[in-house]
Amino acid sequence: MAGSIETIRSLILDGAPGEDIAGVDLPEAVEAAFVRRDEQEMFEGISFEERDPRKSLHVEEVPLPPLGPNECRIAVMASAVNFNTVWTSIFQPVSTFAFLERFGREGDLSARHNLDYHVVGSDAAGVVLDTGPGVTRWKPGDRVTVHCNYVDMEGHEGHDDSMLDTRQRIWGFESNFGGMAQIAMVKSNQLMPKPRHMTWEEAACLGLVSSTSYRMLVSRNGAGMKQGDIVLIWGATGGLGGFACQYVLNGGGIPVGVVSSRDKVELLHEIGVEHVIDRKAEGYAFWDGDRQDMAEFRRFGKQIRSFVGEDPDIVFEHPGRQTFGASVFVAKKGGIVVTCASTSGYRHEYDNRYLWMNLKRIIGSHFANYKEAWEANRLAYLGHIHPILSKTYPLVESGEAAYQVHHNLHKGKLGILCLAPEEGLGVEDEDLRARHLDKINLFKRFSD
Ligand code: NAP
Repeated sequence: MAGSIETIRSLILDGAPGEDIAGVDLPEAVEAAFVRRDEQEMFEGISFEERDPRKSLHVEEVPLPPLGPNECRIAVMASAVNFNTVWTSIFQPVSTFAFLERFGREGDLSARHNLDYHVVGSDAAGVVLDTGPGVTRWKPGDRVTVHCNYVDMEGHEGHDDSMLDTRQRIWGFESNFGGMAQIAMVKSNQLMPKPRHMTWEEAACLGLVSSTSYRMLVSRNGAGMKQGDIVLIWGATGGLGGFACQYVLNGGGIPVGVVSSRDKVELLHEIGVEHVIDRKAEGYAFWDGDRQDMAEFRRFGKQIRSFVGEDPDIVFEHPGRQTFGASVFVAKKGGIVVTCASTSGYRHEYDNRYLWMNLKRIIGSHFANYKEAWEANRLAYLGHIHPILSKTYPLVESGEAAYQVHHNLHKGKLGILCLAPEEGLGVEDEDLRARHLDKINLFKRFSD
């Protein structure tokens, strides 16, 4: 018999034990945020800025995601917006239905994903509802956060680092049944314990950007930061950057944050980032038409050097075309530019003389393997890392939330309340929360 989503919500809010959750009947349909295959050409001829996620992201009922081997269904209490939700909802640089079609060709189980709708979202915090054959480490009632490395590890390529598996995907972007839904479907190797001192919406902000920042900076697969390294962080209060600053501070590095407003500068000072550049106030313009302006690179480099007297050992790159030439230029001799994205354009230009003559390296980085995501989650679990969550939206307003991120109107992370009826729920360890309340309140003030 089909159950109701309200029963599931009540059980979770009442703290029902796992046996009760295991016994619950699941509904046949759930609310979810999705884009539609028949609308994937709706923005043809329209510029990046004018493509509007509020027009393309729908929130309606879809059939309950199916469950297969090594999979779990999760009651999603909260999710979070990532830039990949923006890419999906504006159908750029490609429609994600192309990913679903390719995935669907791999076999019967993957064919389940190739539907006429694509449920988005690569983050979630919630409760395990049921598990498929082969799942032994997780059970109904477990409170979890979800990371988005979607990989079964059947092939040999990923066994040193699952990000190298040729079938590795990003859940909710290159797979269906993502986190912006009342119930999501994940692989059991995406699950991690929810930090007990965090609310649902705080915990939902961890999976994607915290793990990505961890790999880029801390992991040997990334820049392998060490004590004393000077790290230039673009977008230092953004999704990735807010975590990057914390990893650098925790690891004994010296962050130099770049942001675009006075209140962001102040927040960084308050969390201990002493050296901050307000790129808007400074008026940096690295491009003059279709040419890069070396004088601006030098001015930028001089400002960075004025802080500590040295150039950055590591540049944390993601804006892409607009900044990449400057990032290569300002990195220290022997330094590293670690990049995971190209928000402002993926055709980068840089003067290669500054790279080879100065023995600099560019490292490409993409999300994180399970171990890296787990280690990042562990630091959050122990209270050493906390998300800068500035605002939450109800699921039905997912399009508006994506619009805010698309136009850089947000700060830190934007949460999505799925089954959580309001903010502030889900905290189990009040003592640990109390110990970190100063930081939590600081981030909250920034959101106001
Ligand atoms: P976000 O929350 O929007 O933050 C990015 C920040 O970068 C913005 O807040 C902005 O900060 C700064 N920025 C944007 N455009 C810029 C420009 N032209 N020049 C200088 N600074 C600029 O996004 P996010 O979650 O951090 O993600 C950033 C990018 O990384 C996105 O493209 C996303 O898709 C990608 N990403 C990739 C992976 C991966 O695994 N490969 C994982 C996560 C994210 P200020 O305005 O304050 O300077």
